[in-house]
Amino acid sequence: MIISTNNRRVTGGDDEFTIRARNVTLTTGDGDNYVDDNGTNSLIQTGDGDDTVRINDDSKNATVEVGDGDALIEVWSPNTTTIIFGDGDTSIDVCANTNLILDIGVNEDYELNFYNGATANVTLTDGEGSYTVRGTSDANVFEYGGGDLVIVSCGGEDLIRVRQKIGAAYVDGDDVCIPVEGGGSITVTNGRAHALNVNGRKIVVGQYATTPQDVIKNFMTALTQTNLRGMKAVDDAIKKVSPFKSVREVVRRMVKDCKQIDDADTFLRDRCNIFVDSADTGAITGWDAGNCAVKTAESIVAERGAIKTFRGDSFTVNGLKVILPDKKLSAAEQTIVNGLFTWWIKDALNLIEQSYGKSLRFDNPHASTNEINVIFHRKGDALSSFAHLAEDDGRETEFDLKINLKTYGNVNALDANGSVTGGETFLDRTLAHELTHASMAANIRFYSELPAWLVEGAAELTHGISDENRDDLETLANDWDALEEILLNDSPDADDLEFDDIDQPAYAGGFMFLHYFAKKVAAVS
Ligand SMILES: [Zn+2]
Repeated sequence: MIISTNNRRVTGGDDEFTIRARNVTLTTGDGDNYVDDNGTNSLIQTGDGDDTVRINDDSKNATVEVGDGDALIEVWSPNTTTIIFGDGDTSIDVCANTNLILDIGVNEDYELNFYNGATANVTLTDGEGSYTVRGTSDANVFEYGGGDLVIVSCGGEDLIRVRQKIGAAYVDGDDVCIPVEGGGSITVTNGRAHALNVNGRKIVVGQYATTPQDVIKNFMTALTQTNLRGMKAVDDAIKKVSPFKSVREVVRRMVKDCKQIDDADTFLRDRCNIFVDSADTGAITGWDAGNCAVKTAESIVAERGAIKTFRGDSFTVNGLKVILPDKKLSAAEQTIVNGLFTWWIKDALNLIEQSYGKSLRFDNPHASTNEINVIFHRKGDALSSFAHLAEDDGRETEFDLKINLKTYGNVNALDANGSVTGGETFLDRTLAHELTHASMAANIRFYSELPAWLVEGAAELTHGISDENRDDLETLANDWDALEEILLNDSPDADDLEFDDIDQPAYAGGFMFLHYFAKKVAAVS
């Protein structure tokens, strides 16, 4: 049924409704109804069935009053939508940046899911129980309604409004907890390094992260939260997690330190935690970066147990579905598939999570895809590569993990590191690199516009490269102009950077920058 007359009241009588008018009040029947709202000031009251309500792009100021059944509400409109909860389970899919007013009542059974990288400015008017809200990149007002409130993505201009008395805020890991009179609480995730505005008063619970590892985790989390593009996105993340305002400012400082020390190995060691002679590879999780364990080329991806055979189309690990080639595999391909299944995907994803935190997981609600195709080939010189497709909105889909059999065709089936007879490379380390790209592509908006040095530097930071890339690192620590040229270049294509005496400028430059930044910020905290 299409409702196109203004000021109409409609009660039941159908199971599909489209609203295209102003001030319509629609009360659906008790079956499972579908309502498509394109109106202004619509009031939609759902009945006892399991209803689906779609608040479309041009819907303005809609109110959904959920009845006793379960309701799914899809919000595509950028305008304000009010949702009043009933007794059933209510699930809200946020599909575009929007404003939501949620009147939760006493109902605790509701879910807020975010798609397409969308965020919502949420105001809770009468809540009890626990709920999580996520802010937009603009200024948000988080109104505390009672119970335990978790705020994800709280920025400097946001205001947290609490009517009750609050206790002293404290840090729990990277989160800030504020106790509220009556037993409730407000938790601001990843708020440790930020000043929070509560009732117009500034609360500062900690400065920046105090270890290089935590600086990098905060930095990566901030990258997954920005909607900016290219170098601006990197600047935004730097500003959020450090006293620096931009890449340029960090680079200027880096070059100044380089000049002052005037010795490559000393600069790398003292300012970047890069020890070119040590057994540690320089992974952000390793000894050289300030952690407890030495991570060598063999131990950085930590496999356990004997190899298992896998015969099937796909398997899922840590939320990532790995889709295998739809053909009969050769013996070499089957060997690699067994390793992927037994160790490599899981251990690489675990290492990436240790390195960067949960913000890069494939089962995050905002991840743009959680599938990757494995492709075997024999083309070009690259050991392996990661291919992806950027949608118009900047989200990345269609992930391919391409493994070159020219290098890995004779991978050692019994070695969990994936060593190659007659070669020096380990397949497990290579995969950790490519899966870092995939994890970032899935979780960072406009990933494909990030500067190449950041993308490659971050992938190198997962497994460490101070052993293999020693020459490039030392050359760069002596060549300040080249260092500056690489890091101020915002091209997403690593091939745009070319130097006669540096093999992989984007890789070495990015690796150095991230180590320098992490150590510097941890030191000033
Ligand atoms: Zn790469």
